[in-house]
Amino acid sequence: MPEKIKVVVNEDRCYLCGGCAGVCPTLAIKVGSSRWEFFQDKCISCRICINACPVGALTAEPLGVSE
Ligand code: SF4
Ligand code: SF4
Repeated sequence: MPEKIKVVVNEDRCYLCGGCAGVCPTLAIKVGSSRWEFFQDKCISCRICINACPVGALTAEPLGVSE
């Protein structure tokens, strides 16, 4: 099993292009005109979004057992 992660956005870098939401296989990211949103319950920790962001705005944080 891959390590469970939480995806975090750097809002200073993100320009809301929607690319990450488009590649996420489980629709765990929603990008609107003014907001980037992450849904932990849908995320399967595949990291595809992190590699897909053209400006490196996404990072993975380890998800503790308490979260
Ligand atoms: S791919 Fe990167 S820049 Fe585009 S919406 Fe996602 S986090 Fe923001
Ligand atoms: S790690 Fe995978 S499942 Fe989680 S938000 Fe990114 S693309 Fe979606």
